[in-house]
Amino acid sequence: MPLWGGIEAGGTKFVCAIAGDDGELLAETGFPTSTPEHTIGRAIEFFQQQQSEPPAAIGISSFGPVDLRPTSPTFGYITTTPKPGWANVEVVGRIRRAFDIPVGFDTDVNGAALGEYRWGAAQGLDTFVYLTIGTGLGGGGLVNGKLMHGLIHPEMGHIRIPHDLDQDPFAGSCPFHGDCLEGLAAGPALEARWGQRAETLPLDHPVWELEANYLALGLVNLICILSPQRIILGGGVMQQAHLFPLIRDRVQQLLNDYLKTPTILEHLDEYIVPPGLGDRAGVKGAIALAQQSTGFLR
Ligand code: ADP
Ligand code: ZN
Repeated sequence: MPLWGGIEAGGTKFVCAIAGDDGELLAETGFPTSTPEHTIGRAIEFFQQQQSEPPAAIGISSFGPVDLRPTSPTFGYITTTPKPGWANVEVVGRIRRAFDIPVGFDTDVNGAALGEYRWGAAQGLDTFVYLTIGTGLGGGGLVNGKLMHGLIHPEMGHIRIPHDLDQDPFAGSCPFHGDCLEGLAAGPALEARWGQRAETLPLDHPVWELEANYLALGLVNLICILSPQRIILGGGVMQQAHLFPLIRDRVQQLLNDYLKTPTILEHLDEYIVPPGLGDRAGVKGAIALAQQSTGFLR
């Protein structure tokens, strides 16, 4: 049986895993993201230590922005990230030189979306969005059965949403845009606005109503543009499961009965959902990227 390798390359930590065809993880390790040299080196060591043979392919789902154009001289690089030491860093080439096997590469959120499509909450769908609300806020997904790429790749976290400065005077934390969706609603924005990390804020704190409002504003834009059949919300901030009903109610209000489909009018609890793979969406997504890279899976 061929084994597949996956690297979830996050800005905070890397997770590497080996899995069989069914995506079940057979070995897994995680370590903090330090320098590119050291971090990618540790990933290579992990796969070297697993078996005598390298995996059939390795999939990498990476924080970004990344260069996904196969014809580009910097294909497989992390490009303009503000993360110190990681701008213009080659990722795919380093792995390919170490193992000489196919390497699949995509954004962290497209990877997670592919994992959810294969084994999680998006099975059987052809158009859906996976959004993470964590250190950053980003989205990926499939449209008509294909991962979204286009010009670069979607940057769903950097959309602009209404920001009522009387209600919320916080200027926003995005280094590029201030109060884009990520600048208002990702984890670091919550920490900067309230002076403590989101996970320490109590349930009755005004943070959650405001957060649900911003996320719902983002979601109605995505719903109106992409017509997704489902929206999956992952990432650290969404560990606050009580956000789901708040977001669904606000989406309902904002859409105001305009989209006359039972999915939105009656089944919003099956429409805006947590990842079916839980916190394994990212690493299993990387495995799915490996399988896709050899044509084993479309
Ligand atoms: P990353 O995006 O770096 O991969 P996470 O998805 O865990 O990692 O996101 C980290 C962010 O999510 C931090 O800003 C943190 O404060 C926030 N966060 C993590 N866990 C929780 C939680 N249980 N409740 C609310 N916020 C959380
Ligand atoms: Zn932004």
